[in-house]
Amino acid sequence: MTQPDRNLELFQRASRVIPGGVNSPVRAFKAVGGTPRFISRAQGAYMWDANGQRYVDYIGSWGPMILGHGHPEVVEAVQQALHEGFSFGAPTEREVALAEEILKLMPSMDMVRLVSSGTEAAMTAIRLARGATGRSKLIKFEGCYHGHADALLVKAGSGLATFGNPTSAGVPPEVVQHTLVLEYNNVAQLEEAFALHGKELACLMIEPIAGNMNFVRASIPFMRRARELCTEHGALLVLDEVMTGFRVALGGAQSVYARQIPGFAPDMTVMGKVIGGGMPLAAFGAKRAVMEHLAPLGTVYQAGTLSGNPVATACGLATLRLISRPGFYDALAAKTQALTHGLLAAAKSAGVPFSVDSEGGMFGFFLMPDLPQNYATVMQTDSKRFNHLFHSMLDAGVYFAPALYEAGFVSAAHTDADIAHTVDAAKSIFASM
Ligand SMILES: *Cc1c(COP(=O)(O)O)cnc(C)c1O
Repeated sequence: MTQPDRNLELFQRASRVIPGGVNSPVRAFKAVGGTPRFISRAQGAYMWDANGQRYVDYIGSWGPMILGHGHPEVVEAVQQALHEGFSFGAPTEREVALAEEILKLMPSMDMVRLVSSGTEAAMTAIRLARGATGRSKLIKFEGCYHGHADALLVKAGSGLATFGNPTSAGVPPEVVQHTLVLEYNNVAQLEEAFALHGKELACLMIEPIAGNMNFVRASIPFMRRARELCTEHGALLVLDEVMTGFRVALGGAQSVYARQIPGFAPDMTVMGKVIGGGMPLAAFGAKRAVMEHLAPLGTVYQAGTLSGNPVATACGLATLRLISRPGFYDALAAKTQALTHGLLAAAKSAGVPFSVDSEGGMFGFFLMPDLPQNYATVMQTDSKRFNHLFHSMLDAGVYFAPALYEAGFVSAAHTDADIAHTVDAAKSIFASM
C-alpha cells in the first residue's frame, strides 16, 4: 500500500480556502507543474515537507535565511524579545540599534525608516522620491521586481516615448502612466529616455543584480551611466537591494559596484529579506536631506502599526551581528562557488549548455551557453528542460527555486557534503538530458 501524499492532501485543502492554495504565487509551482511541498520544519540547510522528505534548501525563504534555519543565537534573541512583548505601537531601543547597524554597513545612507515588507519599502521609496523632487515620472527595468505596488506592476509600452501598460488586472492605466519601462543593460535606450524625459524624472529604480529574472548583473558601463544620468538630470538613483542587501556582500551590491566605479553610491536604498532574518522587516534609507521629507518631519506620508516590530528587530539585529563577523562573506562566497563550479563542470561533461554566475551567497544558472543580459534573453530558456531538471533535483532531495526566472541562495549552514550531494545529483540528471 502506498503512503498517502500529505503534500497533495494539504494542497487540496489549501486550495479550498486560499486562492491557488498559496499566500504568494510562486509557491504554487505553476511554472514547473506538480504539487507544492508543504514545509513542516527546517533546520540549518534543510527543510522537511509534510511527507517527511528532507531537502537541501537553496531558496532560504527567497533569501533571508543567510545563516541557515534556526540559528541558535537568533532563536535565543527572538525568544527573549517575545517575553518582553510582541508589539507596543511606541518606539523601542532595538529599532534605533538596528537603524544604527544598517547605516554602519551602508554608508550611502544617513537615515533609514523600518517597515514590514519589501513591497512597502519600494512603494514608499517611490513616494519619497516624488515628494523630494516634486516630479512624477520614474524609470524601471523589464525583469526587475520591486514588490507589488500599483505603479510598479507595469511592463514596457510599445515605444520609448510611450509609458507602460499594467501587468496586473486592477491597476488602472492612469496609475502606471508615469512609469517608463526600459530594457536592462541597454545604455542607448537609457540615454534616449533621459534625453526625452530627464527633467520630469523623480527617480530610476533598479535591482543592481537582478534576482527576479534569475541572476543578471547590471553591467559596469550601464550602472555608471545610470548614476551619471541621474546626477545630470536631478533624478534619484534608487537601488532596490531587498534581495542583494547583506546577501551578495556585507555592504550590499552597492559595495560591489563601488569597488569598480570610483565614488559610486545610490541616492536611496531599499532593503528587506536578510535584514529581518526571516521575520517581516524591511527598510529604505537615503541622505538626511531626502529622508527629512518624510512625516513627521516633512510632507511625505508613511506609517505602519507593526513597523520596527520588537520581535522582528530582535531577529534582524541578531542576524546582522552574526553576518558582520570577519570572514563570513568569504566563506559564504566560497561555498556558493563550490556549488556553481560543480554544476558547471557537471553540465559541461554531459554536453548540456549551461552558464552560471554568483556573488556572495546568491547565484543563478541558465540552460544556455552564455549568461543573459536582459529579461527577453532569460525567458528564452527551454522551460521544459528546466522543469525536468527542477523536478529531478527535487526528487533527489534538492530544493531549487521552482521557476527559471528566480535566483538561488546558499546559507552559512550548507556543508561541503550538501554541496557534493547537490552536484552529484545534477551530474546524473544532466547525463540523462
Ligand atoms: C522580494 C523583493 C521585493 C518585495 O519584497 P516583499 O517583502 O516580498 O514585499 C522587492 N524587491 C526585490 C528586489 C525583491 O527581491
